[in-house]
Amino acid sequence: EDIEKIFTLEKPEINFNDVGGMEREKQEIDLKIIKPLQFPDLYKAYGKKAGGGILLYGPPGCGKTYLARATAGQIQAEFINVGIHDVLDMWIGNSEKNLHSLFELARESKPCVLFFDEVDALGANRTSMRNSGASHLINQFLSEMDGIAANNENVLIIGATNAPWSLDPAFRRPGRFDRIIFVAPPDQEGREEILKIQLRNKPVDSIDYRAIAKATPGYSGADLKAIVDLAIEDKLMEALQKGIPQPITQKDLLKATKLHRATTREW
Ligand code: ATP
Repeated sequence: EDIEKIFTLEKPEINFNDVGGMEREKQEIDLKIIKPLQFPDLYKAYGKKAGGGILLYGPPGCGKTYLARATAGQIQAEFINVGIHDVLDMWIGNSEKNLHSLFELARESKPCVLFFDEVDALGANRTSMRNSGASHLINQFLSEMDGIAANNENVLIIGATNAPWSLDPAFRRPGRFDRIIFVAPPDQEGREEILKIQLRNKPVDSIDYRAIAKATPGYSGADLKAIVDLAIEDKLMEALQKGIPQPITQKDLLKATKLHRATTREW
């Protein structure tokens, strides 16, 4: 009954313009889920149906959640973020009912992007979980997904995982997570764009974005946000002392790269 207290609906204010790099990923999402939603009849004419889900996979911190949220913003859809703890909670108690209410909430709020972070947690170790009652949850999840595909409703399901190989193969059947998009760590150009986005509308002084992007191989989007945040904190302290905003400089950012190291290797 209180499903809305557990899962919050949000209307994201970011869209694809706020996502640096990821040109290929954005284009794939556009063709695979946004266009089918906007032009269902065209897709149907070619025997392609809208709906179903996509799976984002790649190393942590590279913006899977951020990209899913921006996808919702791109089509002015509602966004529901289902984390691993929500899923684990469903294993306890009245799980099938909760899962059903969650999908119902999404259907009532369409267009809606229903996002499952670490979705492999739901489908991993199906056999070992069989006795614990988790297979009920998995079956329920799969049939809710099939229902959405069949009814061609305006609910987009996006799953994220760092370990696609540990996902139960049943999740990958047509109409379920049948489309997979690799979310790669940003290349130099992507890093430059992310830095510009993270510093947009902030006081800055002649920053050489290209040089910083060059100096940060292996930095994920989350890493780049972290170095910008470090530089901002520094400047804020200075600004508080001096009583006026102090611009963020090249030096501040380079200093921050020494404090926060890359968490992904360059791919
Ligand atoms: P993952 O889910 O892949 O483990 P993540 O989803 O935790 O990674 P996010 O939380 O999406 O990574 O990214 C953390 C933060 O880093 C975002 O909130 C965003 O501010 C910033 N960020 C990440 N990637 C990008 C990007 N491509 N463009 C702009 N900002 C980004």
